[in-house]
Amino acid sequence: MSSRSSLRKELSVRQLSGNNQARFYPDNIPRHENEPTREKFEICADTDYGEGVIAKVAFRPGEILFHFQGRLLNYQSLFTLQKRPGLYIEDPYCMGKILHSCDPNAYVDMDTQIFKARRPIKPGEYITMDYETTEDQLFRSFDCKCGADNCRGYICGRLCHVGESGNLISIAK
Ligand SMILES: [Zn+2]
Repeated sequence: MSSRSSLRKELSVRQLSGNNQARFYPDNIPRHENEPTREKFEICADTDYGEGVIAKVAFRPGEILFHFQGRLLNYQSLFTLQKRPGLYIEDPYCMGKILHSCDPNAYVDMDTQIFKARRPIKPGEYITMDYETTEDQLFRSFDCKCGADNCRGYICGRLCHVGESGNLISIAK
């Protein structure tokens, strides 16, 4: 066997096994730079809030965590974030499982669909974002127990607040 053919065999084996297993996304979502991989993240069931995404490696402030992809929708689901009013992107594999914190360790740019670290992140930490930085109104509002000094308590969306009656009031136009 020539060295060239053994190299080719090694490359094809690596492409078939290692990389595919590392993906969160199914094959119908094309591979792309900085997509989330199982080398860097894992999904864990959290007792209070359902599933969350945990870092398996350390990240520096400003470092890219991942670039997510998904289906564009004109409605919300548990796994969407808002790109602009009335337009949402759904990623049930990774992005849609990021938990909320009022003092999160990550932030997202909805134009580029890239999450970055807001402060140093250690292996074993849940990746968190502030849902009210992207969502005008949440698919499902909740009482936040993030424990941050600046916790806003009831998280319902950036255009909503709780009225005196306790009812949700939308202040969107
Ligand atoms: Zn909070």
